[in-house]
This record gives sequence, C-alpha cells and structure tokens, in this order.
Amino acid sequence: MTEKQSIYYITTSIPYVNGRPHIGFALEAVQTDTLARHHRMIGDDTRYLSGTDENALTVVQAAELAGENVEEMVERHAEAFRAIQDPLEVRYDDFIRTATDPRHWPGAQKLWRKCADAGDIYKRHYQGQYCINCERFYREEELVDGKCPIHGTVPETVDEENYFFRLSKYQDALSELIRSNTMLVQPEHRREEILSFIDSGLEDFSISRRSLRGHGWGVPVPDDPDQVMYVWVDALSNYITALDYATDGELYERYWRNADQRVHIVGKDIIRFHAVYWPAFLLSAGEPLPTAINVHEFLLSGGEKMSKSRGNTVDPLELVEIYGNDAVRYWLLRDMPRSSDGNFTHERLIGRYNEDLANDLGNLVNRSIGMLQRYRDGVVPEVGRDEVGVLHGIAQDIPEKMDAAFDAFDFRTAIAAIWELVTAANKYIDDQKPWEIAKAAKNGDDLADARLDLVLADLIETIRLLAVHLAPFIPLGAERIANQAGFSLADGGRPTSRDWDDALAGQTLPKAAPVFPRIEVAEETE
Ligand code: ZN
Repeated sequence: MTEKQSIYYITTSIPYVNGRPHIGFALEAVQTDTLARHHRMIGDDTRYLSGTDENALTVVQAAELAGENVEEMVERHAEAFRAIQDPLEVRYDDFIRTATDPRHWPGAQKLWRKCADAGDIYKRHYQGQYCINCERFYREEELVDGKCPIHGTVPETVDEENYFFRLSKYQDALSELIRSNTMLVQPEHRREEILSFIDSGLEDFSISRRSLRGHGWGVPVPDDPDQVMYVWVDALSNYITALDYATDGELYERYWRNADQRVHIVGKDIIRFHAVYWPAFLLSAGEPLPTAINVHEFLLSGGEKMSKSRGNTVDPLELVEIYGNDAVRYWLLRDMPRSSDGNFTHERLIGRYNEDLANDLGNLVNRSIGMLQRYRDGVVPEVGRDEVGVLHGIAQDIPEKMDAAFDAFDFRTAIAAIWELVTAANKYIDDQKPWEIAKAAKNGDDLADARLDLVLADLIETIRLLAVHLAPFIPLGAERIANQAGFSLADGGRPTSRDWDDALAGQTLPKAAPVFPRIEVAEETE
C-alpha cells in the first residue's frame, strides 16, 4: 500500500530583534522543530521556516537609545536568533529577515496590492493612542490611567492620514472558518478567546504609518513613498514572502497553495494577529489560509514573568551549555503545560532529566544492553513469535497516539504515550528476572533458554522503537540510544521503522555505555 505523501509547511512566529533570544523563543523553536522532525520522519514533504521581524519601531528606538546604527544592530541580533539552531538542534529549512531579505519587500507589497485591488484598503484621517512596544493602537477605555495595560508606558498620540484595512467585511467569514475548524485554532481555550473577540465586532484598522514617524524604517506602501506599512502587515506576510510569493515561485505553489497543512506556531500574546488579521489579508487577496494556528502559553522564571529589570531572564544557550541539549529540549516539551503558563527553575529541569532520562530511560537501555552482552555475547536473538507480548501490545499503539497528539499540538501526551512503553519495559525486567532465567538455562533447562531469548529480543526491540519515537524530541539522545542498539537514525531504512518487527534480530550490538549520565547537583555533594 502506498500512501500519498503529504506536504507539510510549518513556521515559528518571527520575533523582534531588539534583544537576545530568550527561553520563550527557544520553546517555540523547539516545539516547531519537533513537529517538523516528526513529519519528516513519517515521510511528509516538510518545510520549516523561521526568521526575524526587523521593521518594528521598537527596533529603531532600541538602536537610537544604544546610539547604534539600526542596520548594524539588526544584523547583530538577527545573527543571535539564527545561531540558536545549532546548540538547540533546531533544523529549519529557511530563515527570513524582513529588513534585508530581497524576497520580502516585493512579496509584502504584492499582498498589499492584491488587498487594494479587492477594494479592502482605503485612506482616512486617524487620531489614536499608539503603544510602540505593543505596535498597536489602544482605545481610550483600554488604557489604565492613560497608560498601556501591558507596558505601563504612556502611549504616543498619533494624528495622521493612514491607510485602513476593511477588517469588518471579514467578520462572518473568519468566525465561520474558526467555528468549523477549517482553520484550526488550538488549544480550545484560545479558540474560544479568539471567537469571542471576533464576535464582539471587528473594526477596520490602520495598516500604515507616516514614513517620517518610523524614521524611514520599514516597507514602503506601494505607490505612496510617504507611508510605510504597519509592521504587522509586513511581518505576517513573511510566511509567504519566504516562499517567493512575489514571483509566484515554485515554493509558493508547493508549500502554500498546494500544501496539505500550513501550520503556524505562535505565543498567546499574538494570537489576534495570526487568527484574525493574517487570514483576513489572505481572504482579501484570494490566497489560501493557514490550516492550523497552534498557540503556546508563556514560560515564567521562578514563578514570575521574565524581564531584564527583574534579572530573571533565562538564556537558553547557557542552559544547553550547563545541562546539555537533551535536558533542555526534553524539559521544554515535557513540562510546558498546554493550557497554562509554564515555570522554569533549574531544580525542575534537573529533576525531570534525572528522573525520566537518567533513571527510567537510561537505566532501561543500560540494563537491557548489559544483559544482552552477558547472556548472548551481544547478539540479538532471532525468535519466532506466535502471540503479541505485553511490550509489543503497548508499542503497536504508539504511532497512532503520537500522530494524534502532534496534530493536537500536545507534546506531553505524545511523550506520555512513549513513556507507557518505558515504564512497562522496566516492569517487564523486574517481573521476568532474566538473571534467574539465565541461571536455570545454565543448569540445562532448554525452555528457560528459549524464554531468555524471547525476553532479550523483546527488550532490544523496545529500545529500538524508543530511539525512533524519541528522535523528534531529543534527536541527540535518541541517536545515542540507536547507537547502543547498533544502528543510526540518520541511515533511515528498516531499523527506523515505527512497527514492532524485530528489525535488529541477528545483529551484534556494542557494549553498554551510559546514554544519559545523571546531572549531579553541587549542593548535594557539599
Ligand atoms: Zn504596550
């Protein structure tokens, strides 16, 4: 049976480049990477885009404050964001920079023109309160004591002629698209939030500003050099400008127009831009919409929002340096709640790593390979099976459970499905007591000898499958497990199949070596 290959396109949001990447963005990059790796593994034609948003007013402001040239500052910060890919093992296929990438401006202008051609852009005088940090206008009643409810700063009073987008026209269409899950917004509480926002009434909104106000920084409005695009209009279009939308390129045809899934991963603070403004532009321009918008919550540090002034920001690259890539990726994916904010502490990360990876998984691999060496000189027994054993039974349900969990943007549930097998395998060793079977076999019990073959074969096949299933989450640790089982995940082929098929039978495996050494906490040893 040949299944049709799906085309899967996935993006992170593009962060402002007025600082270094913090762990919140690392979370998003790792989540997106895990989904991309999963889809590559199941054979989908997968493309992963990331990038940086460089046209925000805050960027100009930050550069001026630092007395730095804007281009140079943008270059430096964008490089820092791009550079997280190696230490975090994040493998994107493309990275777009909205200030310098030659594909971006023409694409953003093309989208603008199409919306204008549809009659959805008009010019009008506008006065409003603009928070430069939020990059949005606030109504008087939304301000707290005249200040931005998020930043606590006094917004700028803007009084100018601007272009407006006819968002009101798309209220019913957007509501229907989300209600019918044609454009899936998840988790559910975020879907409800955005539906109630839409149902409260959508108003036309300003999509440009005077070029002068942005100090000339930004994407020029087509045919009107006095105006630059509102940064969100240009930023959102990165998802298609990076696919050569400007020239209707092959990438656009394949990964947007004809893709089976177009998936955005975004933080909860920018859901409105992605689930309302962006699809409205696309509807106006007659382009396909995203199929899913997956929303993650925030990551707190020591129970508080991370901020430079509190001094509790967490540098993801520093964490990787201290604890290693597996510990950081695993913690982000395993401990981040799906429907509420997560809370980072060093103790939590260490505890989770030691308990799950060093103890449960690491010991399972080590004990199993060790027994195979001791009792069978490292050769995986070839066994005939006439019934589905306990581990086989659990293992055969994992692919379906994982696929469903990934579709639901639920990493914890996907990991839980894998951990059922880890737990069962550890219990299997305790119950079967292979060392006692080996003693009986040594004393001439042939049935025991056959029984020992079966137990060892079960354990090795379990370890092989664990390496395969864990690869999207912890690619480095999964490869070390695979190496212990005598294969490489990079080679593809039979040992990387997701089915229980005794793929390693007859092979000789290397000697046992610890795959997840414990992280020792300094305080305990003092
Ligand atoms: Zn603000």
